[in-house]
Amino acid sequence: MAADMLIEKIYMSCPLCGKMHDVGKMRRRTYTIIKDENVEYDETYYFCENSDKDENEFCNAAMLNQNLLNARNAYRVRHGLLTSDEIVAIRDEYGMSQVDLARMLGWGEVTISRYESKAIQDDAYDIMLRLVRDNPLQALELLNKNINSFTNEKALEIRNKILEKLDRTGKEFLTRKALEGEYAEFMLPSDANGYCVLNIDKLEAVISYYAKQVDNLYKVKLMKLLWYADVLAYRENGMSITGLVYRHDVMGALPIGHYRLMSLERLNIREEIGYNYLLMIRILPIEDMDYSVLNKDEIAQLDKVIEKFKTYKAKDIVDYMHKERAYKNTNSGEVISFSIAKDLREL
Ligand SMILES: [Zn+2]
Repeated sequence: MAADMLIEKIYMSCPLCGKMHDVGKMRRRTYTIIKDENVEYDETYYFCENSDKDENEFCNAAMLNQNLLNARNAYRVRHGLLTSDEIVAIRDEYGMSQVDLARMLGWGEVTISRYESKAIQDDAYDIMLRLVRDNPLQALELLNKNINSFTNEKALEIRNKILEKLDRTGKEFLTRKALEGEYAEFMLPSDANGYCVLNIDKLEAVISYYAKQVDNLYKVKLMKLLWYADVLAYRENGMSITGLVYRHDVMGALPIGHYRLMSLERLNIREEIGYNYLLMIRILPIEDMDYSVLNKDEIAQLDKVIEKFKTYKAKDIVDYMHKERAYKNTNSGEVISFSIAKDLREL
């Protein structure tokens, strides 16, 4: 456990030694037991250097609450549950109070207040909260169902906020669901997806990152670049980046659901007519993309792939891929497993 750290000294009347003096406000990493589990978290406390070892620390009420909240949030992060801040963010987005959100969900009025302060939500409650956050259509449905719990004015106000969000994210949500539908049979980490379940946030970031660095990026080339990055990441970290599943296609590895993939609402796509009157799908960077979903290793792997194939035309990269063992040892239409794919030629 790391050593205790001094945050600041505060001159106050110390309840331990009874004198006015500089009391140290300290922070340390500690642990507690929550639901039979050892949970590590950050704890803040005051330290009196005039008192003896057995009783030289104290907390005020606000600190105590914050410490408890930190511990519970650490438990939530470990279990993939929404943290108290994330629950607050859901309410803020829809302009709702704690009681409003509880009423919309048809829960007891203090439920949300408890989740933001003391209690840890069960899985079923967590799923409901996520639905409301991620699917504004669902939120609208719930609001209509429990509309009698609200004044007309409040109901209208919330409805407008939901419609705003629907405008902003509704289409993206629906196109994501369509792609996720194609991946229903790959919901678990396996050799087919590189031990990573489809992650559309990362997928969009990767595509935008490539589009930013590679001039004239079209669909055929993008599909190969995705495959190389996933395989490289799998080889180096034991886990792919996007969770896409690739099949053996005439032109090399092609992800399952590639039409739906290219229809993701957030992607910046331009359709162009090529010389041969074929429709060309050009990929441009997403303007406000947040690349922080990709870690340092993943960015390095993307850079490596870009460095190698930057100047390759679609045909060149297809030819290059045709010589990979992953391609030669699989049949048309077959899923290219990552355990075969990892024997890449050096990039
Ligand atoms: Zn003291």
